[in-house]
Amino acid sequence: MYTEISAVEMVEVSPRDGLQNEKRAISTAYKLELINRALESGARRIEVTSFVNPKAVPQMADADEVCAGLPERDDVTYIGLVMNQRGADRAIATGRIDQLGAVAVSTDGLGIANQGQTSEESVEVAKSLIRSAQAAGLTGQATIAASFGCPFDGEVAVDRVVEMAAQIAAANPVEIALADTIGVGNPAHVASLVSKVKAAIGELPVRVHFHNTRGTGLANVWAAILAGATTVDASIGGLGGCPFAPGAAGNVATEDVVYMLERAGISTGLDLDKLIEMNRWLGGVMEKDLPAMVGKAGGFPQPDAKQNDERNVA
Ligand code: ZN
Repeated sequence: MYTEISAVEMVEVSPRDGLQNEKRAISTAYKLELINRALESGARRIEVTSFVNPKAVPQMADADEVCAGLPERDDVTYIGLVMNQRGADRAIATGRIDQLGAVAVSTDGLGIANQGQTSEESVEVAKSLIRSAQAAGLTGQATIAASFGCPFDGEVAVDRVVEMAAQIAAANPVEIALADTIGVGNPAHVASLVSKVKAAIGELPVRVHFHNTRGTGLANVWAAILAGATTVDASIGGLGGCPFAPGAAGNVATEDVVYMLERAGISTGLDLDKLIEMNRWLGGVMEKDLPAMVGKAGGFPQPDAKQNDERNVA
């Protein structure tokens, strides 16, 4: 064993965050196949869709149809992302969503642009959505968007995010997530913020959500785990770009995170070979090469590795 950390929980976010940031529209049938393949690869928490205005996010217009097609599983948590009470009501009405994910925003700039709320208002809305989930017999959690930097307001103070986490914790979410929405975080910042948030919210778990926009995604995952984060969002193939950086890489790739953690002796519950297979399938559906690196290189050691390879290996 290399570390004392033995397991990390993964949340597959490709059906929502991945697809939402892709230009290509994907049919409901392919979304359901993506979800089924994630289940087969071992995923037990999946962000399946978001209940937002279809005019604002046309890729998620089929949220109700996706929910109707979800396999019935007692051992799986299906997460629906919601921004307001109307979205929460829709998600609850499907009868298929287990957990509502609310979003609070660290800055007024992004809050107003994204959901028409100041940062403070977004905290109150997130708390109220968590309580709506609980009242309906679901669980609720919240993500603090732009925890490491904002596309409009620039630097985000660690203290502001810590303060928000403490306020949201009062609504008893199942966890609080810190999201690097635009992929500007670095491992030192991540370690500092995760440990300060943990200290502020007591027993509540911390989930992390990174975009690999500037290549720091995996390093940030590692730093977050060492600092005490227990759950990691990832998207198969590294699907999904960044809404504020056209052409940039997407979420950290599930197979890259799983490779790194499993090789380090940290169990994820996911099957790397099946993830790589899923990457190939998804690349075909999206008609492009996906950014994940392990998706291209494969795992290690490989069962069919040649013993006497004469290639120049220097
Ligand atoms: Zn994201």
